Amino acid sequence: MTRGSRSESSERLATPPLRDELRGIQPYGAPQLDVPVQLNVNENPYPPSAAVVAEIERAVALASRDLNRYPDREFVALREALAAYLGHGVTPAQVWAANGSNEVMLHLLQAFGGPGRLALSFAPTYSMYPEYARDTHTAWEVGHREEDFSLDPERAVTLVRQRRPHVVLLPSPNNPTGTALPHEVIGALCDVLDRGLLVVDEAYAEFRRAGTPSALELLPTYPNLVVTRTMSKAFALAGARVGYLAASAEICDALRVVRLPYHLSAVTQAVARAALRHADELLGAVDRLRTERDETVQWLRGQGFTVAESDANFVLFGTFPDRHAVWQGLLDRGVLIRETGPDGWLRVSIGTTAEMAAFREALSTVMKENPS
Ligand SMILES: *Cc1c(COP(=O)(O)O)cnc(C)c1O
Repeated sequence: MTRGSRSESSERLATPPLRDELRGIQPYGAPQLDVPVQLNVNENPYPPSAAVVAEIERAVALASRDLNRYPDREFVALREALAAYLGHGVTPAQVWAANGSNEVMLHLLQAFGGPGRLALSFAPTYSMYPEYARDTHTAWEVGHREEDFSLDPERAVTLVRQRRPHVVLLPSPNNPTGTALPHEVIGALCDVLDRGLLVVDEAYAEFRRAGTPSALELLPTYPNLVVTRTMSKAFALAGARVGYLAASAEICDALRVVRLPYHLSAVTQAVARAALRHADELLGAVDRLRTERDETVQWLRGQGFTVAESDANFVLFGTFPDRHAVWQGLLDRGVLIRETGPDGWLRVSIGTTAEMAAFREALSTVMKENPS
């Protein structure tokens, strides 16, 4: 090989033949910074207890004996456990699971989106949705929420009637605003979706306030309704990567076509089943976090901030002429929150009592230094 041809080939390597629409795109991800108070990705701040850790260890040890074999690709035992956890008459055939609900939703778009098809949501909302659409060559469109981040049923129905999307993605509670969807809106959208699915992303459902319903209640009424859940938030199991959904058996069956073979490892299935056997304990901190959330909302309002109503384990508050300066000021004091949502707003995840005290103290200091 001559010098010239070598440099030509290294030039080729320097610019891999990426899809045009992916050039220059930054990969998704909140900063993973090692700071004392991490309130930026809505994790449960309480790790599993020693007893639950021991149970998970035992389950993984047992699964390890068969790691020369592929896992049960239909994850039947896990589906049974998830169906039992969900209740509402959901059967194992109506459950699907994957590596995080992100992968569950990617499966949905692989099967029900695609070239020539449209996915739709209402902004501000979860920033991953347009990425699933892009990665599956699904067209993407957003409608808009009202000033208080709720959905106006008439406006939403009008848009869906006009655009006839194949998939509508709607979190309830919504991220980053914390806004839950009333049954009335879900029902109206399912009725008007003549050829599409409504995916209600209930990643934060376990944190909802008393009186806020779950879309699971509507599954028997609407065959085009899908409800996704995750073990990453209330279940305190973000590191295990387990998400799931409940929908008609026909929808679940369709997802088997697009999943990669054996997508859920034997270790993941064992960890998830062990965690579900200890659901009460893992979910034990949820009430404490809900109380802490309501107190955080009260405190922020007392400080004069505008705060969105929240049914989740985070709170969106503002508004700041320079939100980045406030975010940076908090980070300089060891408190990491999230610069997300509409301009001027910030989102804080609910942590332990001590972490929330540190957040309040840091925010008070930053506001004194940056009066606006
Ligand atoms: C955190 C979150 C999820 C969960 O993602 P996993 O892949 O299950 O960890 C899903 N939807 C929304 C809106 C979220 O904020």
